[in-house]
Amino acid sequence: MKRWTVWMGAAMLAAVSACGGDEPAAPSVPPPSAAAAPAEAQPDEPRAEMAPADADPLAEHLRTLRAKVPEGFTVVPEPPFVVIGDEPPDVVRARAERTVQWAVRYLKALYFKKDPAEILDIWLFKDKASYERHTREIFGEEPTTPFGYCSPAHGALIMNIATGGGTLVHEIVHPFMAANFPACPAWFNEGLGSLYEQSAERDGRIVGLTNWRLKGLQEAIRAGRVPSFEALAATSTRAFYTEDKGTNYAQARYLCYWLQEKSLLEKFYREFRAGAKEDPTGYETLKRVLGEADMEAFQKRWEAWVLGLRFP
Ligand SMILES: [Zn+2]
Repeated sequence: MKRWTVWMGAAMLAAVSACGGDEPAAPSVPPPSAAAAPAEAQPDEPRAEMAPADADPLAEHLRTLRAKVPEGFTVVPEPPFVVIGDEPPDVVRARAERTVQWAVRYLKALYFKKDPAEILDIWLFKDKASYERHTREIFGEEPTTPFGYCSPAHGALIMNIATGGGTLVHEIVHPFMAANFPACPAWFNEGLGSLYEQSAERDGRIVGLTNWRLKGLQEAIRAGRVPSFEALAATSTRAFYTEDKGTNYAQARYLCYWLQEKSLLEKFYREFRAGAKEDPTGYETLKRVLGEADMEAFQKRWEAWVLGLRFP
């Protein structure tokens, strides 16, 4: 009897073969953790004949996952993630390849050199009922949003996939940010995550597009309720989440969108990350990358530009 289905995709096979001492077939698919690939350090050891799975953190992870996965779910390894879902198997596989693998490849190309240290699970529940029930039964948690959330305690991104793939791409940004820029404050972490909620490929790169957060931001701009960028950047991570006047995410998102459209977003990420000790909020880096001495004047231009944007 088959309790669950594991899709041995190309990525999984590459990871397994990397563990046996071979080079992975595709350079874009490294072993889940470089530190955990002892076979590479000892190429003469006949590890592959003994128990290659023991040396493979992905295989080990899949074994422990088995106890958690309910009947009828499909499990698709997509390093550094494992995608688990209760939609039809071909739909779960398509989401793993077209959303997760796609986003990981393009985000890594622009920003993230390091994979998250742990393999993370991406649970895609097919509807609201499944999402609410399984979140309780599997994790003993109550969902914090109707779309999905990240559960560090369970090393999992937990989604109601019926609400669309946007939140999934948003959440994928966070574990990569944690691995590559752990000091990143919430305003930029959430701005970048939110940017890719609505994303597409342009000239071989991932780009964020306008999305549903635009309307509320335009209203806040018209009402003069949007704080300065200095105030946004100075918001502590805690305050960003607990004292959001309703514009934090959207303001950060459309600042990232401006930077993207001016081809300054990767430069800002790189310089912010490199100089975060001296400029932990990123505000000085932002001014420098924008080339703006007068940030009040910049904000006026940015607000006028945002008011001219359209969604859809
Ligand atoms: Zn987020």
